[in-house]
Amino acid sequence: MTSLYATVAEQMEAGERLTPAGAAVLWDEASDADLRRWAARARARYHAPDQCTYLIMRIVNYTNVCVAQCDYCAFYRLPGQAGGYVLSRDQVFAKIDDLLALGGDLAGFNGGFNPHLPLDYYCELFAALRARYQDRLEFYALTIAEFMYLADHAKLSWAQAAERFKAAGVRWITGGGSEILTEAFRARHSKFKYTVAQYFEAQRAVIAAGLKTTATMVIGFDETLEERIEHLERTRAFQDETRGLASFLCWTYKPYGTALAGQEISSQEYLRHLALSRIYLDNIARIRTSVLTQNASALDGLLYGADDFDLPIEDEVTQSAGATINLDFPSLLAKVRDLGLTPSYRALAGAPA
Ligand code: SF4
Repeated sequence: MTSLYATVAEQMEAGERLTPAGAAVLWDEASDADLRRWAARARARYHAPDQCTYLIMRIVNYTNVCVAQCDYCAFYRLPGQAGGYVLSRDQVFAKIDDLLALGGDLAGFNGGFNPHLPLDYYCELFAALRARYQDRLEFYALTIAEFMYLADHAKLSWAQAAERFKAAGVRWITGGGSEILTEAFRARHSKFKYTVAQYFEAQRAVIAAGLKTTATMVIGFDETLEERIEHLERTRAFQDETRGLASFLCWTYKPYGTALAGQEISSQEYLRHLALSRIYLDNIARIRTSVLTQNASALDGLLYGADDFDLPIEDEVTQSAGATINLDFPSLLAKVRDLGLTPSYRALAGAPA
C-alpha cells in the first residue's frame, strides 16, 4: 500500500500545488534534503538558482508607546509608563541620514498603537521624508496593524485612511503585525490587536488604493503546526484573490524580556519552515529570509527557497527581545558567495512608484 508520504512526494515531483494536509505530512516526514530540493525547484520557477538580491535597511521605531499589550512583545510601554518615547522629526532624519551613509535606502517605520499621536503626525512626517530625501530613500510607512489602529483612532474607513497616506507620499504599508493569522492565536496573545478578517479587509483596502504591501509571518511562539499551515493557506488564498503581495518574509520570535517568555526555535526549524513556505506559496515570487532574527544562518535560507534578504542596521522591537545586529556586511555577503550565489543590491529608492 502506498504511504501518505509517498503520495505527497509524488505530487511534489509532479509539481502539484500543496494542500494543507500535504503540508502537514511534508513537515512531519520529509528529510531536510527533500524539502530543500523541492523548495529549490519552486524557487527556480521565478529566479536563477545562482542569483539572489538584498537590501540595506533600518527599522525606525518612532514610538514605543502602545496600548495593544501583546504578550510576546518586550518593546512597548503603556501610555504614561516610564521609558515611553516619541521620536522628534530631527531624530528620525538623523536615523535616515545614518542609513544612507551606510549604503542603505529603505526605512521601515514601526512603532506602537500610541493614542497620543494623531494621524497628522504621520502624514506630515511621511510628506517631509518624501520632500527631503526624494529618490534617495524609500520607506515602508507602518504595518497593517498600525494602519488599522490609526484609521480607527481617526474614525476613518480603511479606504479613507489609505487615501490619506497615499496623498502624503506613502507607497508601501507592509503586512507586519500578522504574526500567526489564526483567530485562536490572536485571542491567546494579543487581545487588543485586530482579527484575521480585519487584517485582510484592511490589506484589501490598501491594495485597492494602489499602495504596495507584503506578506509576513512570525513563528516560534506556541503556535501549532496546523496554525502555521492555516497562516500559509490564508496568505496563498489572499494572493490568489488580489495578486497584491510583493513578497513574503517570515522571522522568528525572540523571547527575552517578554511576558510570554519561552525558548527560541532552532535554525534548522526555521530553514525547514522557509522551504515549506516557498513550496506552499507558489504564487509569491519573492520569498525573503530574516537576517535580523536568524543572523548569518538565515543566509542558508537562500538554499531553502529564499531569494532575497535584508541587511538591517536597527530594529528596537526585536532587539528588545534578544535580536543582535551584525554590521559586518562584507562578511555576510562573502558567506552568500561561499554558498554559490551572487548577491545583487535591490534598490527600492527611485524605483517606479
Ligand atoms: S508587538 Fe506591536 S502592537 Fe504588540 S505590544 Fe508590541 S508594539 Fe504594541
